[in-house]
Amino acid sequence: RGTSPVPPDVRPRLTVLSGPSGVGKSTVVAHMRKEHPDVWLSVSATTRRPRPGEKHGVHYFFVSDEEMDKLIANGELLEWAEFAGNRYGTPRDAVIERLESGEPVLLEIDLQGARQVRASMSDALLVFLAPPSWEELVRRLTGRGTEPPEVIERRLQAAKIELAAEPEFDTTLVNTSVEDVARELLALMEVV
Ligand code: 5GP
Repeated sequence: RGTSPVPPDVRPRLTVLSGPSGVGKSTVVAHMRKEHPDVWLSVSATTRRPRPGEKHGVHYFFVSDEEMDKLIANGELLEWAEFAGNRYGTPRDAVIERLESGEPVLLEIDLQGARQVRASMSDALLVFLAPPSWEELVRRLTGRGTEPPEVIERRLQAAKIELAAEPEFDTTLVNTSVEDVARELLALMEVV
């Protein structure tokens, strides 16, 4: 650290956006991407099948189980987690390169991943995205209409556990409006 040309207090931080499935993390991120295409967002690898409209290399790198095994075994992931029957992970090198070049980096990941980032990068900023209410979260998870009932049930169980993790985070944003949350997130990242 002592030899770094960038003083620690101005080095951009890694920002982690986490929260229960269905709370609207990806909607917030999509809005941010539209308003600020310059903000770099990490693209995760996942073993989940693409949903309609999702593009390889844009929303995720869609990989096979064998490819995911390799990424994990080779230490290529900054963090990874199993969520609702699929594995998700953040490619390490791309994130480190961006941070070293002085760009802010945003990860949109689940709670288990956020904990791993906390453990390995202590100066990361952990942001919890909370639903306006539990009823609203259930409505959103049920209303997406793209998943079978047993998948929704698993996601509700996961969401209950995830909501209880809020105190572990540095700060909470309540998702009452996509525009407001995106603006608050950018301010936390010191982009605006
Ligand atoms: P979805 O299948 O709805 O796109 O994502 C399911 C969950 O996986 C979400 O909570 C999302 O934030 C999380 N997720 C996406 N990418 C990653 C990742 O790279 N690592 C971890 N730990 N979670 C991820």
